[in-house]
Amino acid sequence: MKELLLKLLKLQAAEFDKPTPKITAAEIAEIRASVPPTILGHYDRLVARGKRGVAIVRNQVCTGCHMRLPIGTINTLMQGTDIQLCDTCGRYLWLEETPVAPEPEPVAPAKPAAKAKRRKKVAHAPA
Ligand SMILES: [Zn+2]
Repeated sequence: MKELLLKLLKLQAAEFDKPTPKITAAEIAEIRASVPPTILGHYDRLVARGKRGVAIVRNQVCTGCHMRLPIGTINTLMQGTDIQLCDTCGRYLWLEETPVAPEPEPVAPAKPAAKAKRRKKVAHAPA
């Protein structure tokens, strides 16, 4: 299901990137041919009304209409098992991949690895 939406996204990117789509007309035709007609039909109806057919979901909000989405919709999107439409604007929803939290970079340069030396009793610095 995810692949299908990726195709729509690619298609959308191409169609909204006029006049210089990043993919060729042949590729567009290929994508269109591989998307089920019912889905493509709905997508095309949205595009015909000047809307993007696919809206990205960010922070559980549809970026197409800025409405918060029900958690059930988000869950289904996360499972990637089914295509979801926004209840409000009718766009296909694409859950933006949540970037894997980057490893927190140590701010200070890493100290030389302290060997498992037992720390001496900390001498209290004079006040
Ligand atoms: Zn929406």
